[in-house]
Amino acid sequence: MTINNYINGQLVPPVGGRYLNNVNPATGQISGLIPDSGKEDVELAVRAAQAAFPAWSVMHPEQRHDILKAISDGILARLDALAAAESADSGKTVRTATTVDIPRSALNFKFFATALLHFASESHFVPGQSLSVTLRQPLGVVGCISPWNLPLYLFTWKIAPALAAGNCVVAKPSEVTPLTAFLLGEICTAAGLPPGVLNIVHGQGPEAGAAIVQHPAIKAISFTGSTRAGAEIARKAAPVFKKISLELGGKNPNLIFADCDYDEMLATTVRSSFNNQGQICLCGSRIYVEASLYEQFKKDFVERVRALKVGFPTNPDSDLGAVVSKTHFDKVMGCIELAREEGGVVLCGGHPVSVPGEGANGYYIAPTIIEGLPAQCRTNQEEIFGPVVTIAPFSTDDEAISLANSTNYGLSATVWTNNLRRTQRLSVELQAGIVWINTWMLRDLRTPFGGVKDSGIGREGGWDALRFFTETKNVTFRL
Ligand code: NAD
Repeated sequence: MTINNYINGQLVPPVGGRYLNNVNPATGQISGLIPDSGKEDVELAVRAAQAAFPAWSVMHPEQRHDILKAISDGILARLDALAAAESADSGKTVRTATTVDIPRSALNFKFFATALLHFASESHFVPGQSLSVTLRQPLGVVGCISPWNLPLYLFTWKIAPALAAGNCVVAKPSEVTPLTAFLLGEICTAAGLPPGVLNIVHGQGPEAGAAIVQHPAIKAISFTGSTRAGAEIARKAAPVFKKISLELGGKNPNLIFADCDYDEMLATTVRSSFNNQGQICLCGSRIYVEASLYEQFKKDFVERVRALKVGFPTNPDSDLGAVVSKTHFDKVMGCIELAREEGGVVLCGGHPVSVPGEGANGYYIAPTIIEGLPAQCRTNQEEIFGPVVTIAPFSTDDEAISLANSTNYGLSATVWTNNLRRTQRLSVELQAGIVWINTWMLRDLRTPFGGVKDSGIGREGGWDALRFFTETKNVTFRL
């Protein structure tokens, strides 16, 4: 299948006529071609967005709501087709795409469609002197750039609030997983989104992505991806004072105390380690367990993880599918090799998995647990973003906090304990944008989402997202 850019409501080929191969990681086969867009394509998209902005930005909120809600409904109406496409592009199981990725993509539009009806701003009153009103105006044309791990989920998480706030968007999905973004264009047209309000440009980060970041008419960049690319975007955006929101990498700790609800902790820890082949920025990849519980946890965790089935993504029995690409497969296998060189003991996994039949040339890795590594080694410091976790014991609360905070990342942390005072202390002292107590990935879309340290700048979700995509202007009336 050859896909094209979605510009001004039309599917258009890339100006330079260049295409990239799209590979299905579950089979290792080329599944189609995607535009290898550049500056000229971004220019077309920006022009379309600029032309659409005056009408879209002043459209009555109720009408804008109706269109965004119709997009949400359109996504749900095509749930199975979108889930199949997401799975074929990314290697994730169809089960995950059907139950997580696509429903959440629809919810993103529904959530911000309703939020825009309630978005209000402040006023400040000094009796007899002044009344100040804070306007929140859309920025104009904004850029949204997203990664491959939760393709439509994260693409829509940015686009929906940008549109809800009255902006027009130039968006780029990951070149590794472009299909559902392509299908979204059709859904938007069918939902009545005016041409040019959303433009989707496919291509590589250093070309199409960089062109979006550098375009002078694009007023803000909402980016989710690696810390490396985030730093580059920040360097380019700073001299031209572009607004940026950067959701970057993680190396999240799980702190498991002996007084936790053991069965629930164990089941959730298996999920938080290996859901989506460990390719979720929120996955807990460093598991620290109180020493008195360590041996029991190790035995039970290894047993549960050995029972996970790695298989073809369309097989309903598969717990894990393929990792996203050959490049990523090589990276993750290299990380496992490094862990061995650093003295780590592989308790289970640590090897590729052959999936017979259609999956014979796909990129599958067994869920891997490693122990015996110090906190400061590269394996425990650098993001792997695959089905690999380390486990280690700790003795005191102080030690647990210090281990948890020992990396440059600070996206999320998960704590398992029934000690109220401990949870209160940890919630304050953990260096993370998100702390989960006795749960994982339980999301309320109204809450701020984002990281500290090298995990990013800014918060998405709820009012934070609508504030990011608007500029405040204070207007004061003398009374
Ligand atoms: P990536 O940084 O390689 O690419 C992300 C997107 O940015 C892609 O669309 C890519 O084409 C584009 N891009 C790359 N370089 C660019 C540049 N110089 N200028 C503009 N655009 C550029 O990341 P990835 O490999 O696709 O995704 C995995 C990473 O994303 C992991 O580090 C993961 O932790 C992170 N992630 C973070 C969150 C979060 O919410 N914090 C969520 C999901 C994934």
